[in-house]
Amino acid sequence: MRILIVEDERKTGDYLQQGLREAGFGVELARDGADGLHRLLTEHFDLAIVDVMLPRLDGFALVRTLREAGAQLPVLFLTARDQVEDRVRGLELGADDYLVKPFAFTELLARVRTLLRRRTPAADVTSLKVADLELDLIRRRALRGGQRIELTGREFALLELLMRRQGEVLPRSLIASQVWDMNFDSDTNVVEVAIRRLRAKVDDGFERKLIRTLRGMGYVLEAPA
Ligand code: CA
Repeated sequence: MRILIVEDERKTGDYLQQGLREAGFGVELARDGADGLHRLLTEHFDLAIVDVMLPRLDGFALVRTLREAGAQLPVLFLTARDQVEDRVRGLELGADDYLVKPFAFTELLARVRTLLRRRTPAADVTSLKVADLELDLIRRRALRGGQRIELTGREFALLELLMRRQGEVLPRSLIASQVWDMNFDSDTNVVEVAIRRLRAKVDDGFERKLIRTLRGMGYVLEAPA
C-alpha cells in the first residue's frame, strides 16, 4: 500500500513518513500542494494524507482538483484549525476524513487503516494464497498450514510483495524500492537479512520451502513442483 503525505511542515512530514513506514506502508512525501497534486495525478497511491495549509496550492484546492480529475483514492485531511466550517468544507470537497492537529500517531494509523479497508471493494483481492501459506490483507495476518505467523510490518509488506508476484524472480533492487521505498546500493544486505528472517518464519520446519534465492538474480516465492 502506497501513501502520499502532502505536508510542508518538515518535522510533521518526516515524523509521519517514518511512523507509517515502520507500520509497513510505502510512504512518499510532497512538501507543497502543487507537487502533491502532480504526484497524485501521475503516480499510483492508495491513500493521500493532505495538510490543509500548504504553499503553492492549499489542501482544499488540491482535493477539489483531484476529484475533478476523477481520482478516487481516499484522502485524509490534516488541519490545525479546529473549525467546524473547515471540516465540513473539506468533506464536501471530497476528503474522506480529517484529523485536527495535534493528534496521536496511533489515531492517525487507525484512520488510515479504516480508510484503506473501507475502500477495498469486495471484488478486490483481500487475501493471497500460495500452497498452504495464506496472507489475509484485511486483518493483516499470515498463516502457514493454518498456524499464525507473527510478522513485523516490514516483513508483512515483503511477504505481500513476494506473494502478489509469485513465481516471478524479484531483484533485490526492486524489493528495496517497493518495500523500503528507497534505493539501496547493490552492496547493502538489508534485503538479504530481511529475506533470511522472513524465510525462517515462513519456511523453517516445513518440508516444502516456498522462498528461494536465485544467486545473482533475486528472490522468488512459489509452490515447489
Ligand atoms: Ca501546513
